[in-house]
Amino acid sequence: MRTISIFGVTGSIGCTAANILAGQSNKFTITVITGGNNVTELAKQAIRLSPRYVVIANETHLNELRNLLIGYNFEISGGRQALINAASIPVDISLQGIVGFPGVECSLTAAKFSKTLALANKESLVCAGPLLQNICTINNTKLVPVDSEHSAIFQCMLGESIETVEKIILTGSGGPFLNTSIEDLKSVTPKQAASHPRWSMGQRISIDSASMFNKAMEIIETKELFNVSVDKLEVVIQPQSIIHSMVGFNDGSIKAQLGPADMSGAIGYAINYPNRDPLTVERLNFLELRQLDFLPVDHLKFPAINLSIRAIMIGGMAGAVFNAAKEQALDLFLIGNIGFLDMARCVEFALNEYELNPIQHNFIFEDIMELDTHMRIRVIEMAKGL
Ligand code: NDP
Ligand code: MG
Repeated sequence: MRTISIFGVTGSIGCTAANILAGQSNKFTITVITGGNNVTELAKQAIRLSPRYVVIANETHLNELRNLLIGYNFEISGGRQALINAASIPVDISLQGIVGFPGVECSLTAAKFSKTLALANKESLVCAGPLLQNICTINNTKLVPVDSEHSAIFQCMLGESIETVEKIILTGSGGPFLNTSIEDLKSVTPKQAASHPRWSMGQRISIDSASMFNKAMEIIETKELFNVSVDKLEVVIQPQSIIHSMVGFNDGSIKAQLGPADMSGAIGYAINYPNRDPLTVERLNFLELRQLDFLPVDHLKFPAINLSIRAIMIGGMAGAVFNAAKEQALDLFLIGNIGFLDMARCVEFALNEYELNPIQHNFIFEDIMELDTHMRIRVIEMAKGL
């Protein structure tokens, strides 16, 4: 039996992981599960998965959680520190499915105490890639990506050396606005932006997919994960979302990883790594599929991609700046304060500011937190003038 903790069990990634684990209960013992606000779902998952510890990050829900779990023998706690304490409990695998910047510290902590960090929270690599890699190296922790593109690249890289890689080709579905004009993009609503044509995901990542900020984050994530230079990174739209990403090598050969648009594949792969265990996901039928399409990215409609490349070129903590501005801009878009296309303006503004005085070396997590807070404030101020 291997021990596993699931951070963000109440979310899209977490619930999918819980479904897989419920079907593999002979292989895993659940140590920790955590939620943010959704106390009902957290209690439901606790009863279903029988973990040792149940943590609700928002402490105001702690009493309600205790009430829902009366008669059960779980150790229940709440609050930010309880979450970090839970990430410090040694386990074989930590699955990190918390959304956004709050997941970063949790990943950095779990990386110290887990044999494998199955990482869905892309913000951890975008904001603190070098710190996370360093912790993994020091503690001999295996970092296995859960993001479908990075899982694909990881699988393509097995048995290969990064020196022989000519290109990493990240695929993207193009999102709900692939065929929407730039004029119409100005007035799209959060609800329209959150309805992804292929993947079923949490609200924030769905809107990030519509703006291609998700793909932009994934470019930085790839750079941090595989240590490749930016000129080797390419994005291609693959509207069917069947090819999850590809790696081209110096002999002209290209490896691709294919599968249905279902995160169960990447989650199952990461938690079972290095084994490949059976999963009850849909199987591809090429004769039904018949066709795979490829399109270029429209950088005028989707400036996020070039902004992420700029963040990589600036270096230092520019990834954290990029993420803070993107998260704050998304919050402003969600409450109707700015338009869909304004989100990219906010990120460009933040990168411009950081570039004036970049901090390149020797930063620690507290520096990243401080910069994150500062940039959010700056973006709110800037957005008032939009
Ligand atoms: P969801 O919004 O569906 O779930 C997010 C999870 O994080 C929930 O459990 C939520 O708790 C918890 N959470 C939110 N805020 C906090 C906080 N401040 N402290 C602690 N926990 C918190 O997101 P997804 O599952 O879609 O995404 C999770 C991560 O995985 C993201 O980083 C995303 O980019 C990445 N990812 C997701 C994919 C997907 O298919 N969904 C694909 C690839 C990557 P609660 O709901 O209880 O409030
Ligand atoms: Mg992805």
